[in-house]
Amino acid sequence: MTATPTAGLTFPVTPSAVPVSEQRRAEILAAPGFGKFFTDHMAVATWTQGAGWHDAAVVPYGPLQLDPAAAVLHYAQEIFEGLKAYRHADGSVWTFRPEANAARLARSARRLALPEISEEMFLEAITQLVRADEAWVPSGGESSLYLRPFVIATEAFLGVRAAHEVKFLVIASPAGAYFPGGVKPVSIWLSQHYTRAAVGGTGAAKCGGNYAASLLAQNEASENGCDQVCFLDAAENRFVEELGGMNLYFVHDDGSIVTPELTGTILEGITRDSIVELARDLGHEVSERRISIDEWREGVASGRITEVFACGTAAAVTPVGKLVSPEGELVHGGGVAGEVTMKIRNTLLDLQYGRTQDTHGWLHRIV
Ligand SMILES: *Cc1c(COP(=O)(O)O)cnc(C)c1O
Repeated sequence: MTATPTAGLTFPVTPSAVPVSEQRRAEILAAPGFGKFFTDHMAVATWTQGAGWHDAAVVPYGPLQLDPAAAVLHYAQEIFEGLKAYRHADGSVWTFRPEANAARLARSARRLALPEISEEMFLEAITQLVRADEAWVPSGGESSLYLRPFVIATEAFLGVRAAHEVKFLVIASPAGAYFPGGVKPVSIWLSQHYTRAAVGGTGAAKCGGNYAASLLAQNEASENGCDQVCFLDAAENRFVEELGGMNLYFVHDDGSIVTPELTGTILEGITRDSIVELARDLGHEVSERRISIDEWREGVASGRITEVFACGTAAAVTPVGKLVSPEGELVHGGGVAGEVTMKIRNTLLDLQYGRTQDTHGWLHRIV
């Protein structure tokens, strides 16, 4: 499906007649957690075959009316994005590389046979929504307003083909610090029976189906006392791919850093991509290549791999304390957050919160 012209598509705001009270909002923002509370508004637009995108608006937040035959409910034709709005010390509000999220949403759309959304339309939707709900952008600590753009097939039709009616929405949810009690290494379970993505599949698309398929493996991780699950490649069950929703990095004793290369089965994380550049700025040699589970095990045993960390928008950078499998536990760096991991984490957060100069031009001002 080709992109349809969206030049000049605006998102006029219809303010909510029943916004959350200032007092209740203050209570929520004091301890928002993650993904539990939603702002007063949402952005929405409709696409119909032939007409393209139309009826774009920011409207009061509320339930959707969907026909029970809507294609998304049956065939999972759905994609999404995740990014944050950060409040800086001077009160201004910024997003981080939203153009990269727009580009990835367009790639995901192509893979799921959904209509593409232009960068201009994507930026307009998040800008108007964040401006309408500016009071919901928390300040202080590592808090933010998490933005969730998504696209669903709404056509009521049970035949199997790409839908002729689609909706784009953006909802927003205040998020507290991922580690309220200070950064703590996570434990990860090596998935034994399940893979996340195969060559030619949807691993590089940010689609709900990938997550549905990862939940049983995540349950297996929990049953084994772990926080997250790590997937190996589907073809050989040998090469490290990523976690259910975060990319992985390995730090070596000589300061060099490795992340699994993008082979079409790994989600192209914007945090991952940013760290390639930030780590180079910090003087680290960074390479993207395949890394096997044996290299991981032997590297930790020999002391060559000194730190492992995971990264993604939600948590920024998360130290990995140990890898657990039936073969035993592999502990990294004594189970405490490593020095390089924390240096990269702080560099990224300082940039996102406007505490250092944005030499890459990655910040995009909204308010
Ligand atoms: C979203 C996502 C990531 C992280 O991507 P960011 O752009 O850094 O937030 C990593 N893996 C998967 C499977 C994801 O869905």
